[in-house]
Amino acid sequence: MIPYARQHIDEVDIAAVIAVMRSDFLTQGPAVDRFEEGVAERAGARYGVAVANATSALHVALAALGVGSGDRVWTSPNSFVASANCARFCGAEVDFVDIDERTYNMCAERLARKLEDAARTKTLPRAVIPVHFAGQPCEMEPIRALASRYGFAIVADASHAVGATYRGAPVGSAAQADITVFSFHPVKIVTTGEGGMAVTDDERLAERMRLFRSHGVTRDPARMEQPSEGLWYYEQHELGFNYRLTDIAAALGSAQVSRLDAFLARRRAIAARYDAALADLPVRRPWQHPDGSSAYHLYPVRIAAGEGARKAVFAAMHAAGIRVNVHYIPIHLQPYYRRLGFAPGDFPRAEAYYREAISLPMFVDLGDADVDRVVAALTTALALEATVS
Ligand SMILES: *Cc1c(COP(=O)(O)O)cnc(C)c1O
Repeated sequence: MIPYARQHIDEVDIAAVIAVMRSDFLTQGPAVDRFEEGVAERAGARYGVAVANATSALHVALAALGVGSGDRVWTSPNSFVASANCARFCGAEVDFVDIDERTYNMCAERLARKLEDAARTKTLPRAVIPVHFAGQPCEMEPIRALASRYGFAIVADASHAVGATYRGAPVGSAAQADITVFSFHPVKIVTTGEGGMAVTDDERLAERMRLFRSHGVTRDPARMEQPSEGLWYYEQHELGFNYRLTDIAAALGSAQVSRLDAFLARRRAIAARYDAALADLPVRRPWQHPDGSSAYHLYPVRIAAGEGARKAVFAAMHAAGIRVNVHYIPIHLQPYYRRLGFAPGDFPRAEAYYREAISLPMFVDLGDADVDRVVAALTTALALEATVS
C-alpha cells in the first residue's frame, strides 16, 4: 500500500524526543522556545508562536487581530475547512474568493473585484486568509497591495508551505502577510505529531497570540491591571484557550526542521519525476507560477476526462493499493456552510477543479520506483476509463 502522504522519522527525531522525556519539562520548557526560534528564522520572521495545531494557530491569529462578531473574513474555497472555521470561532462571517484556474490558489483579480463591490456596499473584510495550496505560494504582492488599499489584515494559511519561497523570500516574511500559519500534522512538510505555529514580525500580535494560546493569562508583573498579591499572582486579561504545544512535540519539530532542505529537495525531485512521466497522459499537471517555489505538500493532477472519470480512476488507484486522495471538497459546499447560505455554483472554478482533482502520493520516503508504480497504475486506470466511457 502506498499512502498519499506520511511522515519521515529517523533516529535523530527519536533521540530528540527521548532527551525531552528525560528532562525537567514536558511542556512550557525550553524546547518550545528553541522550536519557535528555528521556525521563525526559516520563515524570515521575527516571532514564532507554537501552538497545538494549525487550526488553533489560525484561531489565535484572528483573535490577536481582534476579529469578532460583525467582522468579515474571506478565504479560499479550495482549502481544508479549518481555513474558514477559524473566523466562525471568533463569531465573524465567512466569505470566499474563487480560485485562479492555473494555481488553484485564491485569485488576486477576483479578490480585487470582490473588494471593489464590498467597498461600495460597506462590507469589506477585516481579514483575508490566502491559502498556499499544495505548497505553492499565492500571489502575495498584489494581495498585499489590496490589503494596504482596503485596510484588511492578511493571515496566510501556509499549512502546506513550510520552506516554500515567494519572489525569493521565505513564506512567512512580513512583506507577504501580517501573520503566517504553519501546520505540523504528519502529512505536512515537517511534523510534530500534532502542532502548528503562527509567525509574525509584529511584537504586539505575537504577544497577543501568546496570551490567547494560554488561557488569556499573564504572569508578567509589568502588565498587571491590579496590584500584585504576591509572587504567585497572575491575571486573566482575555478569554483565552489552552492551545499549547508540548516540549516533546517541539523537540521533534526542531529535529525535523534541521532536515527541511533535504525534505524539500526530495519533494521537488518527486514532482519533477511526476512532471516528466505524466507529460503524455490525459491529466493536467500542477502548473507552477514563476514567482514561487513550492514546498510540494501535494501533487494534485486533474483528470481531463472529467468527474465520472475521476471517480473511476480514484477507485482503480485504491484497488491497485495506491491511496490517492482529493484536495479539496470546496468548503462552501459542506453542509455547515450551506446552512449559512452558500450553494453550488457560488465558486464555480473551485467546484470545477474539485470534480477533476486527484492528489498523487507525495512524501519524502516515496522512492523513484514507487513514483513509477504510481504512474503505471494511473496509466492503466486512465486507459481502462477511456475504453469503458
Ligand atoms: C492541515 C491544514 C490545516 C489544519 O492543520 P492542523 O494542524 O491539522 O490543525 C489548515 N489549513 C490547511 C490548508 C491545511 O492543509
